[in-house]
Amino acid sequence: MVKKNQDEFIGKLQPKKKHNLEIYEFIVNKLSESGRELFKSCSTFNQFITTRDKEKKKLINSNPCKNRFCPICAWRKARKDAMKISIMMEAIRLEEKKDFLFLTLTTPNIKADAVKSEIDRFNKAFNKLFKRRRIERSIKGYIRKLEMTYNKQRDDYNPHFHVLLCVNKSYFTDKRYYIPQKEWLGMWRDVTGLQEITQVHIQKVETTRGDAVAEIAKYSAKDYEMAVSQEVFDVFYSALKGRQLIVYGGLLKEYALKYESGELDKYKGKDQNQYFYKLIAMWNKDLMKFEQEYQELTDFEREKYNGHLIDEMEVE
Ligand SMILES: [Zn+2]
Repeated sequence: MVKKNQDEFIGKLQPKKKHNLEIYEFIVNKLSESGRELFKSCSTFNQFITTRDKEKKKLINSNPCKNRFCPICAWRKARKDAMKISIMMEAIRLEEKKDFLFLTLTTPNIKADAVKSEIDRFNKAFNKLFKRRRIERSIKGYIRKLEMTYNKQRDDYNPHFHVLLCVNKSYFTDKRYYIPQKEWLGMWRDVTGLQEITQVHIQKVETTRGDAVAEIAKYSAKDYEMAVSQEVFDVFYSALKGRQLIVYGGLLKEYALKYESGELDKYKGKDQNQYFYKLIAMWNKDLMKFEQEYQELTDFEREKYNGHLIDEMEVE
């Protein structure tokens, strides 16, 4: 799922801009006048730099709305979070000699009116779980991401957590620390008070650039699910608005701070692309598409934009 860096951005921007305008129709009545304008005109102006063959592109300037329900802004944040998580994992592996697990915690599907209280229950249950001695001993840190899906056929919702766990390298071989899947299930049932839960998924994370990273980084709600109807959008909106969607704990919290302060820059790759053109992409609202224009970079700009660190990663 996580592929090349700094590529295909413009190709995906077009459909994302259309989704932004679709979601706008659902969110319009919840925003202030200035909020509306920001959301609707999100990313209408974009400045990229591209290689001479125009294959590799990097966004250097735009007008984002930064609303978490905006498909463009959620996608951009996911790209940045994916890189952040990947770099943190790499640093922790090397500096702290740790490994990672990927855990998915879910509860049975629920109807719209139960969504808010169910997410509250989830948060409480998670905190309870991570205060258990057994877990405190084995788990050195976590990142948890709240996600919610909607099932149109059954008209119900499934909020769930994707969790990245940090463990000692000896976790799998040391009986004092290893927690079998069955035990995870038992503990999750206990803390949620839901004995009917039948599954807890847990597995070792093999790579710092794979699906686990993408799952944690990606959006909390899918555009096309939120856009099913006003009713469905409202459920997503009231469930996710104002909530902390991604939460860092323990060692992963420490490293998140290090990442933000630039201490982990040495783990970032250097951008090897030689940028040659500037690409301006402006949204034409009548034609519902981006109009593009290339200009050669000046010597000054070439100096300015080449040779930087890579700080985002492709996500779907
Ligand atoms: Zn936006």
